[in-house]
Amino acid sequence: DVSCRYVRGVGAVQGGAVLVSFIDVTPVEQAGQMRRDFVGNVSHELRTPLTAIMGFIETLRGPARDDAQARERFLVIMEQEASRMNRLVGDLLSLNRVESEERVRPREQVDLSAQISSTLNSLGPLAAEAGVELISEGPDHPVSLTGDTDQIRQVLTNLIENAIKYGGSGGEVRISLSEVDRDPAVRGPAVRLRVTDRGPGIDPIHLPRLTERFYRADSHRSRQKGGTGLGLAIVKHIVNRHRGRLRVESELGKGSTFTVILPR
Ligand code: ADP
Repeated sequence: DVSCRYVRGVGAVQGGAVLVSFIDVTPVEQAGQMRRDFVGNVSHELRTPLTAIMGFIETLRGPARDDAQARERFLVIMEQEASRMNRLVGDLLSLNRVESEERVRPREQVDLSAQISSTLNSLGPLAAEAGVELISEGPDHPVSLTGDTDQIRQVLTNLIENAIKYGGSGGEVRISLSEVDRDPAVRGPAVRLRVTDRGPGIDPIHLPRLTERFYRADSHRSRQKGGTGLGLAIVKHIVNRHRGRLRVESELGKGSTFTVILPR
């Protein structure tokens, strides 16, 4: 199917026969396109808050110069926009780190139960603000696995934070941890971590692309909630790096479940 691929051809005439050799450069072109899309997305995501900040600076220098109330209001917005940029840069750095370390095998002993408790503590205020109850279920004994503590912590934070952000106010978010002797996804003993919310759910058409960088199922809501569009891309990379699997199940109007399966 040469017609729909990028090819470079070299032709030669030899003793009346025509020899043509093609090299399929589709993967190279695709990588180039992905890089261009990525740079375009990053620039757009950074430029939006930057433009807002510059606009407010101009207003503060001009029309709102002597208006103390407006100054306070604008400073709050400028701070929010600056922290959006800060979050984006933080997520870009995390993504860069996990992408470049993809082939390194994580070797630390991670106490998953302890990491869940401490993540729930850190996210407590966010959940309280959203009126969300965090419920954690799991075995009585500590569950651990071999991995990278910081990265596992990031997976927990991103998934639970999303469940709080998108799970609808006043609902509950359930975090359940279990151990199985064999999970077909990792072909052996595994730990399963499930984060379930009872929010509006995700339209099935979005599911295959949800872990792509900057992909948002609901762009307006993501931006309103301060999302960068990189959280699930980071989760996917970390889970892959731990030779695990990420599964997303969702039903509109019912909620979503994100399951991480990691080899023990
Ligand atoms: P963001 O920073 O926008 O939250 P993510 O990569 O973490 O980016 O998530 C990608 C998109 O997936 C989000 O923008 C949101 O539309 C959707 N999403 C993620 N988690 C949930 C959830 N628990 N319920 C509904 N939608 C979700």
